[in-house]
Amino acid sequence: MTIKAPEQATQSIPRQEDLFINGENRPSASKETFDDFNPTTGELFAKVAKAGVEDAEAAIEAAQAATSKWQAIPAAGREKVLWQAAALLEQQMNEFVETLIDESGSTVAKAKGEVIKSVDFLRAAAGEPRRIEGDTTPSGKCSFSIRQPVGVVVAITPWNVPLGLSLKKVVLALATGNTVVLKPASATPVVGLMLGRLFHDAGLPEGVLNVIAGPGKSMGDLFASHPAVKTITFTGETVTGKYLAGIAASHLKRFALELGGKNPAIILKDADLDYAVQAVTFAAFHHQGQNCMSVDRVIVEEPLYDELLERLVKKASALKVGDPRLPETQLGPMINEGQLQSVHKLVTEAVDAGARLLCGGEPNPPFYPPTVVADVEPSMSLFQEETFGPVAPVIRAKDAEDALALANNSRYGLAAAIFTRDVEKGLAMARKIEAGMVHINDATIYTEPTTPFGGVKDSGFGREGLAGWSWHEMTEPKWITIQLGEKKYPF
Ligand code: NDP
Repeated sequence: MTIKAPEQATQSIPRQEDLFINGENRPSASKETFDDFNPTTGELFAKVAKAGVEDAEAAIEAAQAATSKWQAIPAAGREKVLWQAAALLEQQMNEFVETLIDESGSTVAKAKGEVIKSVDFLRAAAGEPRRIEGDTTPSGKCSFSIRQPVGVVVAITPWNVPLGLSLKKVVLALATGNTVVLKPASATPVVGLMLGRLFHDAGLPEGVLNVIAGPGKSMGDLFASHPAVKTITFTGETVTGKYLAGIAASHLKRFALELGGKNPAIILKDADLDYAVQAVTFAAFHHQGQNCMSVDRVIVEEPLYDELLERLVKKASALKVGDPRLPETQLGPMINEGQLQSVHKLVTEAVDAGARLLCGGEPNPPFYPPTVVADVEPSMSLFQEETFGPVAPVIRAKDAEDALALANNSRYGLAAAIFTRDVEKGLAMARKIEAGMVHINDATIYTEPTTPFGGVKDSGFGREGLAGWSWHEMTEPKWITIQLGEKKYPF
């Protein structure tokens, strides 16, 4: 695969992208468009049709009309579409990688990794339609339950992993027989719209997947209250997720929420320090820290504290920041100026409150350097608020018990890591950490298609994953009985 060099990649005419409703591209009802910028160059990357309530209604109606068509296709037919989508995505890898670089500021490695993982997810999902199970109940009659698709699923996704997260939601819904309206983030609408075309070319019937881009705020209330929508699957900020869940709950809809994190990496005094530093460096700075699973608190047991700081600063300072098209670049731009400023605010507030800035901390828009801040305390906002930037806040723990208490001192509970040579101790701690996902001797950034991805506390509600982990939101159980022989009724 060849990635265009920065000078070759400059676009003179921005792309034009329409909505994708009922199997066709169309402008928005209002004919309005919005601008989608390249975060590295600041240039206009695409002009995108701006959906509003009318378009959202059209997309929901198209999805609803397509439910019987999609549900009539047997499991083998759905499997074929998912396999074909995987093959097409692999063939179109270059185009997706280029778009991820230009639209979301992904480095070449992050963009390639995201496409490869998405192909893998699609392949793993192809078997899901045949795996949907029901139960039988011991009873005097024939009594069993089946799982049926809920109907229309609305998927709302963020900008940081725009292909991987949109694809996962769409596929989890399609594999279980549902139809979908996808609303990608306004900072990265093109990747989402490309998915509509990809599935269409893979043989998905018209209306089964609809993609509309535009301000989420203008469409959220409709999505969460429309009678045809049965499930909302949302990934994004906690405040947005809570808002949508409130409306959805009042309409008795299902919802799955993948929200923010403040993920701890606990380094115990018996850890392999070099290895732990490598894992933490990757998980704190990958994609400029703009990952819900990023290490966002490095909690270190006292005896290793100073040594860890020295090694972490050395590694962080050596990372290459700059144009994401250059293959050697390890950190690209922040998604936008607002994100950069919110990261910088958390760092400066912590330093003003007594934390030590050991490297980085000087914005160079659109870039923010890898930053290590030591002596971070629970009273600081850098300890409590999700950074979503390339910052490693380091916290001193007196002992393992203190490390656990510090890790759990958070309103979030998405992912956690524990570094120790004593696996038994690690396992005991893993059970006590308030997080949906815990990795012993590995980075917090880790996913597999068939595992329960998700968080506790303010990090979310529900789990995402193949092999049944999403059936709660994506299917409706139905109990069926057959009376065998005549029953005697009391009157
Ligand atoms: P936002 O919550 O701002 O936006 C996410 C999506 O929701 C976007 O498509 C957005 O549209 C849409 N949206 C915003 N307001 C509404 C509304 N009222 N009704 C309906 N949709 C709405 O999150 P970000 O895009 O800023 O993403 C970053 C956040 O996502 C971080 O907190 C991060 O931790 C979290 N995240 C969680 C993950 C997980 O799996 N737990 C994975 C990745 C990220 P628009 O762009 O048009 O505003």
